[in-house]
Amino acid sequence: MNNSFSIAIHGGAGTIHKSQMSPEKEAAYKSVLSLALNAGYSVLEKGRSSLDAVEAAVMVLEDSHLFNAGKGSVFTHEGSHEMDASIMEGLHRQGGAVAAISGIQNPIALARRVMEKSGHVFLAGDGALEFAKIQGFKFLKPDYFFDELRHQQWQDALKNDVVQLDHSPLNEKKFGTVGAVALDAHGNIAAATSTGGMTNKRFGRVGDSPMLGAGTYANNNTCAVSCTGSGEFFIRGVVAYDVSCLMEYKEYSLAEACAEVVQNRLVKLGGDGGLIAVDIKGNICLEFNTDGMYRGMKNSKGEEVIGIYKGSMDVR
Ligand code: ASP
Repeated sequence: MNNSFSIAIHGGAGTIHKSQMSPEKEAAYKSVLSLALNAGYSVLEKGRSSLDAVEAAVMVLEDSHLFNAGKGSVFTHEGSHEMDASIMEGLHRQGGAVAAISGIQNPIALARRVMEKSGHVFLAGDGALEFAKIQGFKFLKPDYFFDELRHQQWQDALKNDVVQLDHSPLNEKKFGTVGAVALDAHGNIAAATSTGGMTNKRFGRVGDSPMLGAGTYANNNTCAVSCTGSGEFFIRGVVAYDVSCLMEYKEYSLAEACAEVVQNRLVKLGGDGGLIAVDIKGNICLEFNTDGMYRGMKNSKGEEVIGIYKGSMDVR
């Protein structure tokens, strides 16, 4: 048994300025981040799997209205909520994903169920919901997902006829695709990502978050990665897998691979955002090319940090 373990989480990257944040709001974000981080960490501390840890951490973030996932998901063009999520473990490289689902409190739990019980990797829309019903998932009414600020963002996007990323200037008040990566005491890594996608999205738009290789990836030979940002670019850049490839084929360190992908390759494509990653030694990387990323990490060496803006982290 490997003794060390670590976990990192994110709650979305984007245009996050201190000037737009009240001390109360900042404290609220940090407190949910800390809750999620510690939910995942306590799973690892008990010797349980990294898969359990990333699921536990993401579920806390999905249950908060502050982040664009689960309860706080943004509105689609039609005024509904369509959520995407994926989860992957690095030992056998098993994964599960759902896209364009509604009414499910924790899409990440459904993604895991797809991985474990469906015989498939990726289920979408009505079919995914039918599977959820058979698996005994509860269906919540749309008002569970209603949030005043999200509603306002959707109205603004409708008025301006735009499809909005959560972190683009029109609605820079609230951010929030969520994700987690972890290494457990047994030496296995895992990653999970969950999102409501883009405000005012239509035509069944699906981003990178539920796509293994793009928004989420885990491989015990390299790293586990969860992404957030302009999904179309992350899909085209196959970002999470690209980080893994640089480590596997070019022997980059985790930090070198994350920096190359986020600060160079993604930028050249025109994409903005960030990612969190962990390698098999428990090294953690929190990389982004935006003004900020809601993020945190904790490890068995006793290190714990939470951050929002570029260049500053609270040491706990
Ligand atoms: N990557 C997500 C998507 O494109 C959005 C985000 O990370 O905020 O759906």
